[in-house]
Amino acid sequence: MSKFPLMVIGTVAIDSVETPFGKQEQVFGGSASYFSYAASFFVPVNLVAVVGADFPDSYRAILKERPIGLEHLVALPGKTFHWKGKYEGDLNSAQTLATELNVLTEFRPMLGPADEPKLLFLANIDPELQLDVLNQVKRPKCRFVACDTMNYWIGTKLPVLRTVLSRINMLVINDGEARLLTGSGSLIRSARKIQSMGPDIVIVKKGEHGAILVHGEQIFVLPAYPLEEVFDPTGAGDTFAGGVMGHLAKTMDFSFENVKTAMVQGAVIASFTVERFGLERLRELGTREIEERISLFRKICKF
Ligand code: AMP
Repeated sequence: MSKFPLMVIGTVAIDSVETPFGKQEQVFGGSASYFSYAASFFVPVNLVAVVGADFPDSYRAILKERPIGLEHLVALPGKTFHWKGKYEGDLNSAQTLATELNVLTEFRPMLGPADEPKLLFLANIDPELQLDVLNQVKRPKCRFVACDTMNYWIGTKLPVLRTVLSRINMLVINDGEARLLTGSGSLIRSARKIQSMGPDIVIVKKGEHGAILVHGEQIFVLPAYPLEEVFDPTGAGDTFAGGVMGHLAKTMDFSFENVKTAMVQGAVIASFTVERFGLERLRELGTREIEERISLFRKICKF
């Protein structure tokens, strides 16, 4: 069994981000970067991803700050995945201005028996790559598989995505994407439809309005941690998922009650991410600060 209980495959990216508060080029981003950094506050994480020859050593050094396995962070000739996004009045949903897949199209992950994780997260990336990794992981040794996706992949790779969905335990997805995937306006009905596609557990993220959990027959709603100012929402969803999966990997308890607790961890980690660009805020975060915000959050939610 691997020394990394949790494995993630997703994008490691160079982003261009514009928010009402500023514009930044060459931001270190990607679904797997945010996810692994956040989850590493709970357990060591094995990162499976690809970058191009242009990927700065300084960004790799940021990942090295944490217990993140980089053996499967492959560098290929060519350019790193690049996403350009903009947030206008509504900070809950990004407008994608450009998606350049670059080296992602060449990537073929190759895992060995020593990499076997207990939990696998298929972060937002081409569903063909999600399936490729899923096929290389032995179940039921790997106890729990969760997945995220977005409109780009729902629009271009739906049949493969449906195969992935049929084989996972949990989907973590944005409200807009849940509606797109199911054609249903009601989020609860969307979650139920997603359950019928495979996963027994569905978490629908609603940006600053929190998240809904549908776990078997049971339902739970959690607000977002209330912040007066959101600087850059990029990565909030991925760090939320990192907190959720990190807590589940630490506890190995996938019950309704424990997924609720995992969501609190996820919401709190995500609340730090959005206070600055990229991973800047998470880099200075300590467990004490996380715990303080969790206890404040508990007080805010209690009634
Ligand atoms: P989020 O947590 O949803 O804000 O995710 C933000 C990250 O998703 C950015 O850092 C992007 O690099 C990454 N991203 C954007 N589009 C895609 C895509 N089509 N596939 C995978 N990752 C993406």
